[in-house]
Amino acid sequence: MMQRTLFRRGALLAQKAAVEVSLLPMSAPLQPRLDRAMSSVTIPPPECMLRPLEVPFRYLFGPGPSNVPPRILAAGGRAIIGHLHPEMYEIMNDIKKGIQYAFQTQNNMTIAMSGSGHAAMECAIFNTVEPGESVLVAVNGIWGERVAEIAERMGANVHIMVKAPGGIFSNEEIEKALAKHKPVLFFLTHGESSAGLAHPVDGIGDLCRKHNTLFLVDTVASLGASPIFMDQQNIDILYTGSQKALNAPPGTAPISFNERACQKMFNRKTKPVSYLFDMAHLSNYWGNDGQPARLYHHTGPVSGFFSLRESLAILYPVFVFPEVAGYLWKGLEDMGIKLFIQNKDLRLPSVTTIVIPEGYNWREMLQYMMKHHNMEMTGGLGPSTGMVMRVGLMGYNCQKTNADMVLAALADALKNCKKSKA
Ligand code: PMP
Repeated sequence: MMQRTLFRRGALLAQKAAVEVSLLPMSAPLQPRLDRAMSSVTIPPPECMLRPLEVPFRYLFGPGPSNVPPRILAAGGRAIIGHLHPEMYEIMNDIKKGIQYAFQTQNNMTIAMSGSGHAAMECAIFNTVEPGESVLVAVNGIWGERVAEIAERMGANVHIMVKAPGGIFSNEEIEKALAKHKPVLFFLTHGESSAGLAHPVDGIGDLCRKHNTLFLVDTVASLGASPIFMDQQNIDILYTGSQKALNAPPGTAPISFNERACQKMFNRKTKPVSYLFDMAHLSNYWGNDGQPARLYHHTGPVSGFFSLRESLAILYPVFVFPEVAGYLWKGLEDMGIKLFIQNKDLRLPSVTTIVIPEGYNWREMLQYMMKHHNMEMTGGLGPSTGMVMRVGLMGYNCQKTNADMVLAALADALKNCKKSKA
């Protein structure tokens, strides 16, 4: 009895102390903690931790993450609640509805991964493919390469169709490969961010159905910027990331599976290689499996889900993108800069790839714009490295005034970065 009273008093004191500490300036509680640590440990506390956290403001005009608007930023700073509290389940239910709208799907099996776009990529493959099964991957930039590697690592029999960065696969080519390799899954990147390509999707879902193949599409760089209609386009599995056109912080990734995909992934002979990404567990955690109780599986990123909810609530309208992207493209061409994807209809509106201006060192140009304009743009990625520089105007950042800033920074870099060998 006595022990219980003491314990309760201790808990109350701790609670009071926590309230007091939370009212102190951000960096103040650190010193006493470090002093205490110093008395009992041999490795001293790091000097850097005596400084308050410093994060500069940057114009994030690369391929992601993009700047986060105030409403979404504020959501991530809200007080934490438990990951299994009823209010959290409600927020997760909102997220599910928001994703269904963003993906244009009625799929029940719609969730957000606790992890970045790669988590969704791995979840899709780990759950729908078993070791030894045939997988077909369209490679025309880094994302196909990455998926082929993930599938290979889990023991799939991987076949690739390869084009140069930014190349397009015709429906005839795809059908021929489906007939030849009889894959259980075909992967295509809708928004190839390493090449700046928006790959056409129409008709491919029908071909996959005809050949008894699941159609998996990556929209990490394109969702919200380039139209996609999961149900109408017969896409079986679709995923995206939080940090691009959705404008949320990195670290969560929406994904949806239709009935065909569920049939395959819930009738497996083997368990998926990952426990964390096992949809049998995740579907329960997200309340999608029809069970009365949602059980503990892992501790979801509570703040990340708050932000994701808000980003889905204020999803930037897709029609803004072509106008701003067109404005940027014209401005670039007027400056004599060449665009990497020549056919306008195939350009990704969220990530524009420009051919590295002849004779310039792209790294030097990027460093110059970071130093003098506080602005991030990036070089190519994977097979497009050394071929392109990438400019991303996504969601909240997708505004003509930002396009003007990009054009001014590039013009300044061209003027001041000496022509040298790249
Ligand atoms: N797919 C595409 C098309 C991407 O652009 C990215 C991120 N650049 C990813 C997948 C991987 O996403 P993440 O970095 O969030 O893991």
